[in-house]
Amino acid sequence: MIPIASPAIESEVKQQLAEVVDSGIISQGPKVKEFEEKYAQYTGVKHAIAVNSGTAALHTALLAHGIGAQDEVITTPFSFIASANSILYCNAKPVFADIQADTYNIDPEKIAEKITPKTKAVLAVHLYGHPFDVKPVKELCEDHKLTLIEDACQAHGAQYDGKKCGSFATGCFSFYPTKNMTTSEGGMITTDDAQVAEKCRIIRNHGSSEKYVHETLGYNYRMTDLCAVIGLSQLKRLDEANQKRRINAKSYDRMLDSSKYTLPLEKPGCTHVYHQYTIQCREREKTIEKLRQNDIGYGVHYPIPIHRQPYYKKLGFNDSLPVAENAAKEVLSIPVHPKLEREEIDFISEVLNGL
Ligand SMILES: *Cc1c(COP(=O)(O)O)cnc(C)c1O
Repeated sequence: MIPIASPAIESEVKQQLAEVVDSGIISQGPKVKEFEEKYAQYTGVKHAIAVNSGTAALHTALLAHGIGAQDEVITTPFSFIASANSILYCNAKPVFADIQADTYNIDPEKIAEKITPKTKAVLAVHLYGHPFDVKPVKELCEDHKLTLIEDACQAHGAQYDGKKCGSFATGCFSFYPTKNMTTSEGGMITTDDAQVAEKCRIIRNHGSSEKYVHETLGYNYRMTDLCAVIGLSQLKRLDEANQKRRINAKSYDRMLDSSKYTLPLEKPGCTHVYHQYTIQCREREKTIEKLRQNDIGYGVHYPIPIHRQPYYKKLGFNDSLPVAENAAKEVLSIPVHPKLEREEIDFISEVLNGL
C-alpha cells in the first residue's frame, strides 16, 4: 500500500522526549518557549504563540482580534471544516465567498461582493500549500478596515512574493500528523502585533496573565513540552521535506497526462509546498476504483463544501457557490509526501495515465 500521508518523526526525538519527561516540566515549559522562538524566526514574524491544535489557533486568533456575536467573517467554502467552525465558536457568522477555479483558493473579487457593514474579518486559507492571492486580499482588508486571518494550516514554509505564509497578517498553523510538519497534535499563531500576541497568550491559558486572576473567558489551549520537542526536530527538517514534496510534484507535473487531468498550478511569485497534490478528474469514482485496485492511497479534499455540510444546512446556509461545488465533485489528492520513492511516482502516474 502506498499511503496518502506518512508522518516521519526522527528517531533522535525519542531521547529528547525522555529528557523532557525526566526534567519534570512537561507542559508550557522551556521547550514550548524555544519552539515559539524558532517558529517565529522561521516564519519571519516577531511573535509566535503555541497552542494545542490548528483549530485552537484559529479560535484564539479570532478572539484576540475581538470577533464576537453579530460579526460577519468572510471565508472560503472549500477547506477543512475547522476554518469555518472557528468562526461559529466565536458566535460570529461565516459568510462564504466562492473560490478561484485554478488554485481552489478564495477569490478576492468574490470577497468584495460579500462585504457588509457587519463584516469584521476575512479568514482566508492557503489551501493545499498554495498561497491565496495575498496582495489583493490584504488591500481589500486595509481599505475596509477588516482583520485578516491567514489559515496557514496546510502551508508551513509556503511563500508569496518571497515572504512566508503566516507573516502577512495573523497566521494560524496546525501540526496534526498529516501536515507538512507535526507535533502529534498542536498549533501555532504568528503575528507582528505585540498586543495581539499578548491577548493570544492570555486566551490560551484560561484568560489569565497572572496566576488565578482571570480577566477574560479563556480556554486551556496550552501545548505540552513533549509536543514542542517533536516540533523543534520537525522544524529543522521542514525545508528539506518541503523540497522533497516539490520534487515529487514536479515529477507528476511532467508525467501525468494533462489531457486527462487538470494538474495543480503554481502561480508566479508563489512557492507551493504541496501539502496535497490535488488533480481534477471528470470521472472520479472510476479513477478511485483504479487506485484502490493498485493499493494506492488517495484523499478527497473535500467532497462536500462547507456551506453544504449537513450541520451548516441546519443553520440555514443555502448559498450557491458553483466553483467550490464543482471542485468538490472533481478533486482528488494523490500521494506526494517526502517518503515517496521515485518508482512509486512512476507507478502511480502509469496507473492514472492508463485509465
Ligand atoms: C488541519 C486544518 C485545520 C485544523 O487543524 P487541527 O490541528 O486539526 O485542529 C484548520 N484548517 C485547515 C485548512 C486545516 O487543514
